[in-house]
Amino acid sequence: MSDKTKNSLKTKLDTFPKKPGIYFFKDRFQTIIYIGKARSLKDRVKSYFIPSKDAKINNLLRDTRDIEYILTGSEKEASFLENNFIQQYQPKFNLRLKDDKSFPYLKLSLQDRYPGIYLTRRVESDGSKYFGPFSPAHQARQTIHLISKFFGIRTCTEKIPGKRKRPCLEYDLKLCSAPCTELIREPDYKENVNNAQLFLEGKVEKLLKISRERMNKAAERQEFEQAAQWRDLIFTLENIKDKPKMISVGLDDKDIIGFAQQKSSAALYVFMMRKGKVSESESILIEENDKMSPGDSLPFHLNRFYQNRKNWPDKILLPFQPTQKLKLQDEISHLARKSVKLMVPYKGKNKKLVELADRNAEIILQEISHRLIPLEEVRQILNLRRTPLRIEGFDVSNTGGEESVGSVVVFEKGHPRKQEYRKYKIKTVIGPDDVASLQEIIWRRYTRLKREKKVLPDLIFVDGGKGQLNAARKTLRQMGLENLSVVSLAKREEIIFTPSHAQGLKLDGTSPVLKLLQHIRDEAHRFAITYHRKKRKKRSFESELDGIPGLGPKRKLRIFTKYKSLAEIKKSSVDELSKIVGKNVAAIILEKLK
Ligand code: SF4
Repeated sequence: MSDKTKNSLKTKLDTFPKKPGIYFFKDRFQTIIYIGKARSLKDRVKSYFIPSKDAKINNLLRDTRDIEYILTGSEKEASFLENNFIQQYQPKFNLRLKDDKSFPYLKLSLQDRYPGIYLTRRVESDGSKYFGPFSPAHQARQTIHLISKFFGIRTCTEKIPGKRKRPCLEYDLKLCSAPCTELIREPDYKENVNNAQLFLEGKVEKLLKISRERMNKAAERQEFEQAAQWRDLIFTLENIKDKPKMISVGLDDKDIIGFAQQKSSAALYVFMMRKGKVSESESILIEENDKMSPGDSLPFHLNRFYQNRKNWPDKILLPFQPTQKLKLQDEISHLARKSVKLMVPYKGKNKKLVELADRNAEIILQEISHRLIPLEEVRQILNLRRTPLRIEGFDVSNTGGEESVGSVVVFEKGHPRKQEYRKYKIKTVIGPDDVASLQEIIWRRYTRLKREKKVLPDLIFVDGGKGQLNAARKTLRQMGLENLSVVSLAKREEIIFTPSHAQGLKLDGTSPVLKLLQHIRDEAHRFAITYHRKKRKKRSFESELDGIPGLGPKRKLRIFTKYKSLAEIKKSSVDELSKIVGKNVAAIILEKLK
């Protein structure tokens, strides 16, 4: 990491809150390379920048180019998310949790006639209720002990009714009520299970009320041993009352939406939970021309967010009722091609999750209002109609007209969105005509976006000078998209061209506006050239195998599928290659490549 990057990250860390959450270290490709959790994000992340001899930290800082975070309500929630995200992204510096050692959950096997409580690392759809994850893991064992001690819930998998004549040692240790030998009536055991569930769900107040009633009744009946047991439970409950509650998980796929609004901006924060785990999070920010009411604004943003989705949830949890909820539900279900329910949770774990997403939306909005300053500057300097929150950059690459390819990169709020990058093989242009190739990919890109009713960018960036700018505008005009703003950046002199700066605009080398455009240009170029090189390599691979008798397109394809390079083919034996192309052809190929 250069001193410049280090200083800019340190400045960024000053804006981090002193609140619990998880943080992400990212490399120059925006790949997550490390995930951690913290009680105070600011203090924890800053501590990495204290000079250290720890090789792991130094290597991590060497590769880091950006750091981001997600706020959580407590450290426990942070552990939960940290583990989920580590398993999702497999960051290279998270060696500790990189293997599939997920944190444990507790399983209350409610589907059984006499449910038990068990430790598990897998959440399944089996009718059980799962609680957790627990971090540190020994808390899970302690919780099992409390459940056994206070509620007499079994931890065994004994068949009930079975052949057992006497209860096991657990009963003697007062850790089980022994349903196996009918020492407890079925309804009483069920009541204990219900109470254990309240305990695990953190419904302490409700359980306290029940416990006090039971203690008093036991004392009235002069059943002092029982009364003492309820008293001990009351002590324990009083003690844990103020501690953070665990999140109980379900297996349903749901998106949890957080929302925040400020002046004419709003932020949407989405946790995507799949099979009970947070698999991704995403935020979007859209400028509203006029401030809308939250009820109108939320469906507007949701609609935009769900336009480009692939992985659909069964339900979407919202922070409040949007206007025309049913209409929105129909629209989203239509996009998903399945029924997606919109719900507003008013209590319980879902409410907690929505609050968590809400907190993150707020913080994103605050942070983005800082980050947006360069984008607002881009709007003013380039005389654009609106702040370019979404920019698409184009580039073309070829070698003397051979293997022409094009690229589109997408930047949202000034950051690359790699999953939306697209590459194109030029189809209609013969020879090295960059301008015509650019027009072809612009045409193909926006024909598709229009056909699929997807979001159009606020600004289009093309690599090149006035010629490229005018060519792009001409194509957009032909498509009826003349309202889209276009800008180009000429190499060497770094002059910016826009329709209102036809003679070019030269900005200072340190200008954030120029820096952003350079970043988009470099990214589009890198993406196009990588694709181009790959195609050239494949072509040289192909041409080496041209003219071999008996080696037609189908057999060639089989070779390309199995081998990545000519060197790999050379290393293989005749027998190995024979399995794909037959013995004679294999021998000729190996002879030719000698
Ligand atoms: S007493 Fe019976 S039900 Fe309880 S743990 Fe032992 S065998 Fe299982």
